[in-house]
Amino acid sequence: MAPSASDSAAITACLPSAHHGFNARLTMKYISTRGSAPALDFEGVTLAGLASDGGLYVPEAWPQFSEHEIAAMSGLSYVELAVRVMTPFVEGSLTVEELRDLCTRAYGRFSHAAVTPLVQLDQQQWILELFHGPTLAFKDVALQLLGRLFEHFLKQSDDHLTIVGATSGDTGSAAIDAVAGRERVDIFMLHPKGRVSDVQRRQMTTVRAPNVHNLAIEGSFDDAQAMVKRMFNDDAMAASRGGKYRISAVNSINWARLMAQVVYYFAAALQMGAPRRKVAFSVPTGNFGDVFAGYVAAQMGLPIEKLIVATNVNDILHRALATGDYSAGTVTPTAAPSMDIQVSSNFERLLFDLGGRDGAAMAEQMRGFEASKAMQLTNAQREGAARLFASARVDQAGMASAMTWASEQCGYVLDPHTAIGFQAAREAGIAASTPVVTLATAHPAKFPDAVERATGMRPSLPTRVGDLFERTEAFEELPGEYEAVADYVSKHATPSS
Ligand SMILES: *Cc1c(COP(=O)(O)O)cnc(C)c1O
Repeated sequence: MAPSASDSAAITACLPSAHHGFNARLTMKYISTRGSAPALDFEGVTLAGLASDGGLYVPEAWPQFSEHEIAAMSGLSYVELAVRVMTPFVEGSLTVEELRDLCTRAYGRFSHAAVTPLVQLDQQQWILELFHGPTLAFKDVALQLLGRLFEHFLKQSDDHLTIVGATSGDTGSAAIDAVAGRERVDIFMLHPKGRVSDVQRRQMTTVRAPNVHNLAIEGSFDDAQAMVKRMFNDDAMAASRGGKYRISAVNSINWARLMAQVVYYFAAALQMGAPRRKVAFSVPTGNFGDVFAGYVAAQMGLPIEKLIVATNVNDILHRALATGDYSAGTVTPTAAPSMDIQVSSNFERLLFDLGGRDGAAMAEQMRGFEASKAMQLTNAQREGAARLFASARVDQAGMASAMTWASEQCGYVLDPHTAIGFQAAREAGIAASTPVVTLATAHPAKFPDAVERATGMRPSLPTRVGDLFERTEAFEELPGEYEAVADYVSKHATPSS
C-alpha cells in the first residue's frame, strides 16, 4: 500500500495549507474551552489530555477543505484519506511522512482492508462498521493511533508516560491493546474484581506485554474510579504535582482521539457521493466524542445533512438538544452500557464553539453546572445546535425492535448500541433522497446475551479472536485500598525524566 512518488506529490499539492494560508512552517495551535490554560501544539495536547484550567482543547480555528479538495479525496485508501484529513491538525508536530507511517501501522491492525466498511440495509439506511479493530469496538479506531502517537512523542522528548484508568469493560480493552508493547508507556488498568463480563475481562487480561498491568480490585467500579482520581491528585505520584510519574488518562477528552474519528465521516460520505450529495449520520452517543467528530467534519466542509444524536434512557443529551435543559439525573443501567452516561464531557466542546468561543463565559457556565448538576443552554447554543443536530431517546423496546427488524429483514445482526442508533435513524424523518448512515460502534458478539434476547440467535466471536477463551490470563488481585494500588504502580512504572 506504499504510495508512489507521484501520489505523495499530489497529496502535498492538495493539502489545505496550499490553499488557505496555513503555512507549513506554522503550527496548529489548540486553545482551552475555559480560556485560561496556555495554548499548546498538537504534541502538547496529545500528551496533556485535559487542559490545566479544567477545560478541553480545541483547534484555534477549523481547517477547511474546498468542495474541489473533497472531491479529490474520492477513491483514496483509508490510510491516505486519514493523512489528508488529519494533516492540518498535526502541523508543527508531525511531518506528513510520520503521520502516514503511524496511520499505516495503526490501521494495519484492522481485519477489513477498507478499515470502516459500509453495509446497505435498505434503500435509505446504511451501517458504517467501525468494529473491525483488535477489540471489536469503535474505540480502536482512535486508540490504535493514540498509542502510537504517545510512543512517537515520548521518544522525541525522552520521557515516560504512566497511563492509569478504571474500566467497567470497553475502554479498558481498547486502551490496553493500543499501548501493549509500545515503548515508554506503561498502562495500569483497574477493573472491579468479578464484576466485568468474561469476554471483557479476557480481552484485557490475555494481552501479554511487559508494559500492561491488569489490576483486579476488590469493590465496585466507582471504588476503582475513585482510586484513579486520587492518584492524579497525589503529590507523591503525579509529576504535575511534584511527584515521580507523568500520569495520563486515555479517555475521550483527548483531542487526538476525536481527530482520528473525523476521518471515517469523510470515508463514508465520500462513498455515498460527497461532496455532490449530502449524507445524514446517526450516532449512538455517550460522552459526545464520536458525534462531535462528525461536527468537526462538517466544520471542515463535509456536506452533512443532519447528525442524529441517539441516546438510550440516559437521555441528558436528547433533553439538552430538544429543550435546552442540560441536567444530570442518576444513571440507569441498560443493555447498551457504553451509553449509560449522565454527564457527556465532550459536549463542552460544542457549547464553546456555538457560544462564540468565549472561554470566560464557558468557564462560568461549567462552574454553574458543576455546582448544581444542571444548566440551560443559551439561545445561541440552542439555535446553533438545531441547525446540524437532531436527537432521539430510544428505550429497551425500541432497541429490541431495531435488532429484530435488521435480523429478520436483512439477516444483519446489530449490537445494542448500534441498534439504538439505527432506531433513531429510522425515526428521524430524513427525506428519502438523503442516505442515512448509522455508526456501528461494537461487534454484536461483545454483547451476546442482549442480542440473543432480541433475535433468538447467539452471535459468535469472529475467528481472529475466537480463541479468547483458550488464552492464558494474567492479572494482579489487589485489596480495595488506595495504598496497595499506589504501591503497585510505584514498583512497576518508570519515573518521568
Ligand atoms: C464508547 C462507546 C459509545 C459512546 O461513544 P461516545 O464517543 O462516548 O459518545 C457507543 N457505543 C460503544 C459500543 C462504545 O464503546
